[in-house]
Amino acid sequence: MASTNKCTYCGKEFAKERTLQVHLCEPKRRYLQRDEKWVVNAFMVFQRFYQIHQHNSKTKTYDDFVKSSYYNAFVKFGRFIMHINPLYPEKYIDYVLRSKVKLDHWARDDLYEMYLIEAIKSEPVEAALQRSIATMMDWATEQNAQWSDYFRLVNKNRAVQHIQQGKISPWLLLGCNAGKRMLKSFNDEQLQMIERFINTSFWPSKLKSYPADHMLVQDTAREAKIV
Ligand SMILES: [Zn+2]
Repeated sequence: MASTNKCTYCGKEFAKERTLQVHLCEPKRRYLQRDEKWVVNAFMVFQRFYQIHQHNSKTKTYDDFVKSSYYNAFVKFGRFIMHINPLYPEKYIDYVLRSKVKLDHWARDDLYEMYLIEAIKSEPVEAALQRSIATMMDWATEQNAQWSDYFRLVNKNRAVQHIQQGKISPWLLLGCNAGKRMLKSFNDEQLQMIERFINTSFWPSKLKSYPADHMLVQDTAREAKIV
């Protein structure tokens, strides 16, 4: 009995211990990868999925995960999460899990974009400002510029990207003159690319409905000498 060289994952037996050591089967591979970031993400989503859709079941273990026929699909989504680095990850995961979208289609940019547009509409103005300023500071470091000059000096296509990624919030973009001035300098194509994010049937009335928040944006811009 002492001399069995049996793979604990798949049960296969080997004559030599060294052969077992280098043996790799799908279950073993899944266990060995458990600390990879995308697998950690995938397992978290897997657990959350059953939490949401099967309220009274026990918390799923890693063992359940490895044996799941959806393992690969969850891992694919875990990798997608790692790449897009979503805004408010837990909120995003719940959004996807509660959507009627099929598992195979979770890892899609258009689904993330739909989420992102809603998420930036509802987040607190403070968080929106903080993230926007952090983006401007990163840009300034990289460009060796003053972050308050962002709206004036940033490459316009870069700004489009930042807006599309939710990194520059409509709160600041539409809430201060410098932001509005930059938008006016966009060409039609650039405007079209950010249209969905600065939705004109939503944002201008949002700013009007929350005058104290709008004031905070303007005060922040003034103090930072954003011109
Ligand atoms: Zn094995």
